[in-house]
Amino acid sequence: MKDWKRVISMAMAAGMSAMMLAGCGSSTTETTAAPAETTAAATEATEETAEAEAAETEAAAEGELAEDVQAIVDRGVLRVGVKNAVIGFGYQDTLTGEYSGMEIDLAQKIADYLGVDVEYTAVTAATRGELLDSGDIDCVLATFTITDERKQTWDFTTPYYTDYVTVLVEQSSGITSLEGLKDAKVGVSSGSTSAKSLVEAMIEGGFLSADDYDAETFDPATWTEGISFQQYDDYPTISTALSAGEVDAFCVDKSILAVYNTDSRTYIDEQFAPQQYGIATTKGSGVSELCEELITGWLEDGTIDGLIEEYSLN
Ligand code: GLU
Repeated sequence: MKDWKRVISMAMAAGMSAMMLAGCGSSTTETTAAPAETTAAATEATEETAEAEAAETEAAAEGELAEDVQAIVDRGVLRVGVKNAVIGFGYQDTLTGEYSGMEIDLAQKIADYLGVDVEYTAVTAATRGELLDSGDIDCVLATFTITDERKQTWDFTTPYYTDYVTVLVEQSSGITSLEGLKDAKVGVSSGSTSAKSLVEAMIEGGFLSADDYDAETFDPATWTEGISFQQYDDYPTISTALSAGEVDAFCVDKSILAVYNTDSRTYIDEQFAPQQYGIATTKGSGVSELCEELITGWLEDGTIDGLIEEYSLN
């Protein structure tokens, strides 16, 4: 059931041809013109239908599919929000357009389980929640860190990967550690955990005072105590800003920074704030339950460890 529309249209074509062959159609010339093609299409359609039914049986074996999951099966496409520039997680080859990475494989596996196609939408830290809320995508596999605050808005599966936050600087800046970031201007992505993680790490290291810090109300846009932040919509723009000297440092998860770590740049010594990545879904949805069940199964049977190894993420 890779492509429902194709299967259905092929089955319809095959059925129509059969009717025509039986004398129900008016254009016998057309029908007999390509018998081999018709038979091949009919056979393929039958095979694909059988394949589709087998996949659906697997998905439905545990019981009735939830309404929202059934809607995905009926649509024939699972729509997934992914990153397009995070090597090993969600990366799109600019020449071929092909996506690759652990999160891409996991999305494909969920679609395979349901017996549907998968459609990727490139998301950013700022857009992924909105796209989920608007119903444009069914789930997000996009280096999405599970936090208590976010759990109030979306469901997250058990984590499938843990990363850490760190900071990338130009070597010429002379900055090598958290301490060196004192009074620096740091580029972060809007909607990310990065600024908060950095401020908390600096407070913990004794490089910033905890006096004005309140985790509940912290806002990177207004924070100016010993460090300040410039927020951007995407990571390539932060990288350009770092080269241009618009910011002194670029802070986010190490997995995301890797692609921007050019010869002239270096990470600071510390990494901090463990970031547990989970699949985000609409709160209370059938998709949430399905994703949780699949992820825990893949954690147990070694599938996730296999992907971490395959993409050299450990
Ligand atoms: N993983 C972090 C977060 O969810 C960094 C932002 C990102 O994933 O782009 O906030």
